[in-house]
Amino acid sequence: MNQQSGTIERVKKMIAQSENIVVLLGIGAVIESGGENIWSSRECYRLEEKYHKSPDEMMSVEYYSARRDKFFEFYKNEIISDVLKPAPLYEDLKRLQKLGKVKRFITQNYYNLEHSAGLDDVIELHGNIKFNICPRCGKKFDVDYIKNSKGVPICDECSAPIRPGILLFGEKILNGLMTDAVNACEDADMIMVLGTNMYDNMVKFCTGNYNGERLVLITKEEHYTDRYADFVIHDKVSNVLPLIVPELPVKPAEKKTTQKIKK
Ligand SMILES: [Zn+2]
Repeated sequence: MNQQSGTIERVKKMIAQSENIVVLLGIGAVIESGGENIWSSRECYRLEEKYHKSPDEMMSVEYYSARRDKFFEFYKNEIISDVLKPAPLYEDLKRLQKLGKVKRFITQNYYNLEHSAGLDDVIELHGNIKFNICPRCGKKFDVDYIKNSKGVPICDECSAPIRPGILLFGEKILNGLMTDAVNACEDADMIMVLGTNMYDNMVKFCTGNYNGERLVLITKEEHYTDRYADFVIHDKVSNVLPLIVPELPVKPAEKKTTQKIKK
């Protein structure tokens, strides 16, 4: 416990010294926001019992092409049924960004939590459930359109089936997004990995070229790969960030500027 509070103090200092932080957000951020991790063994088991197929089979591009009705049954029931509200950790991240500390957020989560929390500069490697598109005419559709449609959602412009805005199994992450993510991490003066572990493919890939000594992992569960991080804090991210992210300064200067503009 004492060791952990020492780490918290050191990380807090590091944030104060850094101005080019990249934040990698894992599934823990979704769970803290009230979501389920459908890839956890418990959930996988429950879903397999219910649908007689594994979630990765049902979320694959093959299944989407071959059994579109079944795909959307699963997608609507299990992926987009709950409206998630950003966990408190997002408030701290927003403050970190306002302080000019964050260069990029990178995530594989696709529940739109980052946007609804008001974060900018987010690389969504696996897309976003909110941004759906008709592959034929390009018309965009909100997640509610998918939710409220019966069976396979159909474009109201050209009648083509609408493509969900997230990456499916068997599809590759867009090259440009990957390059952006890797470059951002390579140039970062600090990396914060939140709510996942160093075994996560996104983390492995993105941090592969990072040569600094400020890779901080904050996550609830211990993992044998934790040693690949420079600093590790085991707790809920929403518990830790308030302890390490500085408060926003009170800005009398801003009032002056407003007055000047008025004059
Ligand atoms: Zn269309």
